[in-house]
Amino acid sequence: MSVVSEETAYWKERYFTLLNEGEKRQTEQNEYETLLNRAVIRLTQAVSGLDAALDPHLRAIREVMRKGENSTLRRELDALLDTLIRTPKLGHPTATAGQGRELLRFLEALCATPEEKTASEAVCRRFEAGGYATEQELFDAAIRVLRNRKGSSATGVIGKLFGKGQAASADIDTTKLRRRLDELLRALNLSASLQERLEQLKARVADDTEDLIALFDAAAALIADMDAGYWQEQKQFGDFLAALSGKLGELEGKALRMDALSQSSAEDRRLTEKAVAGEVAGLRADASEATNLVQLRQIIQMRLDTISQRLDSFDHAEEARFTETQAQVQDLSQRLRTLEQEAEDLRNRLELANRAAYIDPLTKLPNRKAYLERVDLEEKRWRRFQQPLTLAVWDIDFFKKINDRFGHASGDKALAMIGQVLAASIRNTDFVARYGGEEFVMLLLGSDDSNALEIAEGIRQRIEDCEFIGNGKRIAVTVSCGISQFKGRDGFQDVFERADKALYQAKKKGRNRCEIISLV
Ligand code: GH3
Ligand code: MG
Ligand code: MG
Repeated sequence: MSVVSEETAYWKERYFTLLNEGEKRQTEQNEYETLLNRAVIRLTQAVSGLDAALDPHLRAIREVMRKGENSTLRRELDALLDTLIRTPKLGHPTATAGQGRELLRFLEALCATPEEKTASEAVCRRFEAGGYATEQELFDAAIRVLRNRKGSSATGVIGKLFGKGQAASADIDTTKLRRRLDELLRALNLSASLQERLEQLKARVADDTEDLIALFDAAAALIADMDAGYWQEQKQFGDFLAALSGKLGELEGKALRMDALSQSSAEDRRLTEKAVAGEVAGLRADASEATNLVQLRQIIQMRLDTISQRLDSFDHAEEARFTETQAQVQDLSQRLRTLEQEAEDLRNRLELANRAAYIDPLTKLPNRKAYLERVDLEEKRWRRFQQPLTLAVWDIDFFKKINDRFGHASGDKALAMIGQVLAASIRNTDFVARYGGEEFVMLLLGSDDSNALEIAEGIRQRIEDCEFIGNGKRIAVTVSCGISQFKGRDGFQDVFERADKALYQAKKKGRNRCEIISLV
């Protein structure tokens, strides 16, 4: 066989193979289509009668398929899909039923009175009868029942959680909540303007008859205001910086203007000198050409007038420039003074705010924030120089009783006085802060624990001997103290914990005493 006929034979065979394959595929396709048609017709028959909106589409699809009108099939299928999407009840029947039941169970749990129960039962019945087309409708109905409940805070689950009076305290530990709130308030670091509100709120928290919800709301409002105050301060600072940069811009403008003035002065002087020199040269030339004295006098007169005018106008211009410069210099220095004053004010305000952030307003002692910074520093110094360092924690004995018996204001007064006694009893290099509530913390530098115990005993005695007067009566106030010395690999938290444990022992052994826990 020649090369050409070999190739022809190859292509012929290839052609027939492909033809066969095509025919086979066509047959398969036809069978598949028939099967699909039959399945779709069966399906449309099976779901007919479920929903009135779908039925006409199902019928149309059946017709189209029977007649084999494939061109309109697509349109009919699209229409059916559209209708299906718009019928949510058919879209997710089980999800709605399941979630609906959950919602209803929740609703039932929340309803306590007979009226509430009747209302919730009505929603249940309607749901079971398929009266809610969508989940949203059911949800809205449930919400309506909940909103219409009378005195909702006193009944039902929510009432039990947040209600007032005895019913509430039977279910949840309000004392614990009160204590948590008290701790939260004590940890707040407020600017002087909010401090009064904080103190009032603390007094209310201590008062057992106050409604807890109202207290939490008030605390939230206070914290929100504190946040707002902080942002306001930030904004003031931002405004000041913006104003400052504006003013600097103005000053720069003025400086440029003054520079321009002095430049124009120099230019004017140069022009005047040139003009005068010209006049003098002219005068000289004219004089040499003058033929008689009268003419000479006239020429001289004219030239001198011109020179004099020229100098006069230079003088005037110079004077005007001088006045303007003078005014500008004054304006500038005035602005600089204002600027300096504003910067000074801001510095003072910031310093005050900064100082206030570290001072407890009631006792005027450093606060917990100040303590934390100082103890961190002293711990580092101690580690480096190994001088003895001892920490003492103080707590007023039965302070709650003092408040109860003499009132909160007297309690505050006693607290402030004890703070003063503590501060007055230590060396300049030592440190005492109000740690929170009726607790103080003291750092005794260069004192080991037995030395510190001696100092603390003296202070404890001094406070016991103090005459506190509250409501016109003498109040007996004592304090207990726990002491521990920095040792080994101690961090200040470790020492604080030991001192606090020692304080606890002092309380257990009868109060009005000092105890030490030492590391061996
Ligand atoms: P203990 O001897 O065990 O320390 O008894 P206590 O009553 O002092 O201790 P407790 O911790 O039970 O109560 C502390 C009280 O101190 C409760 C709180 O109302 C009161 N308190 C805390 N801070 C202040 C304050 O700033 N002013 C007033 N007046 N009282 C405060
Ligand atoms: Mg205490
Ligand atoms: Mg106490």
